[in-house]
Amino acid sequence: MEQKTEKGHIHPMTQFINRANAIFYEMGFSLVDGPEIETEHYNFDALNVPKDHPARDMQDTFWLKQSPNDPERKLLRTQTSAVQVRYMEKNKPPFKMVCYGKVFRNEATDATHEMVFHQLEGLMITKDANMSDLKSTLNTFFDKFFERDVEVRFRPSFFPFVEPGLEADISCFKCNGGRDLKEGQSCPVCKGTGWVEVVGAGMVHPKVLEGVNVDSREWQGFAFGMGVDRIIMLKYGIDDVRLMYSGDLRLVNQF
Ligand SMILES: [Zn+2]
Repeated sequence: MEQKTEKGHIHPMTQFINRANAIFYEMGFSLVDGPEIETEHYNFDALNVPKDHPARDMQDTFWLKQSPNDPERKLLRTQTSAVQVRYMEKNKPPFKMVCYGKVFRNEATDATHEMVFHQLEGLMITKDANMSDLKSTLNTFFDKFFERDVEVRFRPSFFPFVEPGLEADISCFKCNGGRDLKEGQSCPVCKGTGWVEVVGAGMVHPKVLEGVNVDSREWQGFAFGMGVDRIIMLKYGIDDVRLMYSGDLRLVNQF
């Protein structure tokens, strides 16, 4: 008698990161890792986040209990950018690295918010890395990732560790930037606008470079970060982020 064997499936998060890492590795980026428990210095100060910035507030950050032996307050990292700082301290420029990992925010959970989510962060510092290198890096990544021709556009934004700060939108991978939509049709991913917000980015702030003893008159470059959960949810049409971590095999078995 024929015995049916259940096939295992790889979680979409793992699939994403394996694929993203392979693409960035091909582009010459090192894959770097860092601690999930961070100090206030690496998570905020070294990234030029002001002392009175609301992100440091108890509401957003999971602060750990400080023991009398700790010289500094510790927290669960709120972004993966701290890994860049640690990397720059230990290595000599030029830098070309990506880092992927869990980040933590102390907020109420609902369909679009989770206390734990995942970021992919990249950094490139050379003598002349500029905004067009940033654009082409993101373009190459998303073209390969979605296996279609994706456009990238920038809008001005603000993040303390970059100057200027940018939000990068990509043309919608579902409806091909609106081109595949027929009259009156809408798109579940971009709501018919043709664009999807996926990346925060910018040119690394000279203060961040000086903080790790990199001469900002000699070296320059860009950083970018993306919310991995959001991209996966958009790609597969998952409408509740909590499903991603429920351990429900009905979700995993679809991929
Ligand atoms: Zn669309």
